[in-house]
Amino acid sequence: MDDKVTGGQGDRVMGERREMRSETQYDAIIVGARAAGAVMAALMAQENFRVLLVDRVTFPKTTLSCPLTFGNTFDVLKKIGVLEKIEAIGAPKLRLYQTQIGNVRLYGRMLPHAGFDYAYQIRRELYDEVIFNHVAQMPNVETRLGFNVTDLIWENERVVGVRGREGGGGDEIEIRAEAVIGADGIFSTIAEKVNAKKYNVIAGHTCIYFAYYENVKPAADEPTATIYYDADEHFAFVTANSDSDLTVISISLPASQFERVRQNYENVHFEYAQKIPEMGERMRDAKRVTPVYGVSPRDSFYREPFGNGWVLIGDAAYYKDPLPGQGIHDALRSAELATRAFVEYHALGKSERAWDAAFRVYHKTRDDETQPMYELTDFYADLERKRLPQEMDLFRAIAASPKWSNIYVSMFNGVTSVNWFRRFDTVLRILLEWRWRQLRDKLLGRRAIENRATELQSATTSPSRPTATRLQ
Ligand SMILES: Cc1cc2nc3c(=O)[nH]c(=O)nc-3n(C[C@H](O)[C@H](O)[C@H](O)COP(=O)(O)OP(=O)(O)OC[C@H]3O[C@@H](n4cnc5c(N)ncnc54)[C@H](O)[C@@H]3O)c2cc1C
Repeated sequence: MDDKVTGGQGDRVMGERREMRSETQYDAIIVGARAAGAVMAALMAQENFRVLLVDRVTFPKTTLSCPLTFGNTFDVLKKIGVLEKIEAIGAPKLRLYQTQIGNVRLYGRMLPHAGFDYAYQIRRELYDEVIFNHVAQMPNVETRLGFNVTDLIWENERVVGVRGREGGGGDEIEIRAEAVIGADGIFSTIAEKVNAKKYNVIAGHTCIYFAYYENVKPAADEPTATIYYDADEHFAFVTANSDSDLTVISISLPASQFERVRQNYENVHFEYAQKIPEMGERMRDAKRVTPVYGVSPRDSFYREPFGNGWVLIGDAAYYKDPLPGQGIHDALRSAELATRAFVEYHALGKSERAWDAAFRVYHKTRDDETQPMYELTDFYADLERKRLPQEMDLFRAIAASPKWSNIYVSMFNGVTSVNWFRRFDTVLRILLEWRWRQLRDKLLGRRAIENRATELQSATTSPSRPTATRLQ
């Protein structure tokens, strides 16, 4: 029977019974084998599900991303047994996280997340290959690289597999599974084929240009990630010590600048570095070792992450501006939550209702967990917003206190709750503590001057008292 029906979402082939070249049955086919997909394959395999992990590319292969990954991604990597291999890449541990706005600089150290108090900046071609190779040799995981998924197989309005081609050509191959997981990135084919609805869409604020360099002067006397905001010219530089003695330099600019910069993108970092004296100095002898990659403005969005027989994870399901460096964490977290839902679906008896109940929890938990950072990301990424004096006061107040600086940067590794940090009473406390310290320092300063005057006076009248020289 071939009952091809046309719905609002394009053609779906229902009830098809063609004999295909590959008929192996899997618990899940995961489309996309980078951060989200590879980790989900590993987690599913650990739960004894049989998984096929496919990607249209082969590894090593770079991609448009230059990620900082924080401690809250490492516990998942540890759980699937790959953290040691990531550590063996030898990238420096970044414990100091600096943010500079104008002439104010905040120095923060992340509070440990599950014992990890550092971040890594590792080139994606290394990072993804290490994870993929590790996952590929796990029991219960089969892989297929160079396999481009072009369509889905539907039966009784449920997704039951994928169609695709090897190496960009050749015969179309059908592969069947109980579920198809779209871990295929922001321009997800799976999302398109199931017509997954977007919501909470925010128009892209920024475009990004990044590259890796040698001979960049360090920002501190230890490996560091640093963000320099130029509030007047509306751009932000992110620099971080990466693997192989490289430094990543990424610049975020207002979306409107993308076309202009594209005319001379190869020089963009050197050009903008001149506007921030420290960056100019740091890049004086720098030599670029990769192309400059440009990322055009992209909308932020949530997508409905599941339906009959399909699930979306990672960027396919939820995308936001890269500036605060949350994408990989969120991708891995969605892999964890979706795996948990899959386990629950089986525990509940594998009915349609069980599927719905289990993945509703996935959907809600993902949204609840990510919404505060989604809003904060939008705030940061809006580089052209008017910075109110109150915002700068708060930044100064945080920067003036090592305690609050550490708590602030720990929003990015998930130790500090974003909602708590942005609460009125927290902000008030930070500002009051700052004002109190200013007042105290002023008083102490006055008292020190008064003490010194007394000492000086005593020294002139009594030779046995300490001399002024000793007081200096
Ligand atoms: C400039 C920039 C900087 C960033 N910086 C950070 C950062 O500092 N920290 C951070 O955590 N995140 C950062 N991110 C975000 C991060 O890169 C993403 O969130 C992350 O890569 C998402 O992983 P993913 O596995 O969901 O998707 P992807 O990494 O996009 O992987 C999708 C995979 O699916 C495959 N695929 C797609 N379609 C098909 C198909 N039809 N058939 C087969 N395979 C297919 C692709 O080949 C690809 O390998 C940054 C992003 C950008 C653009």
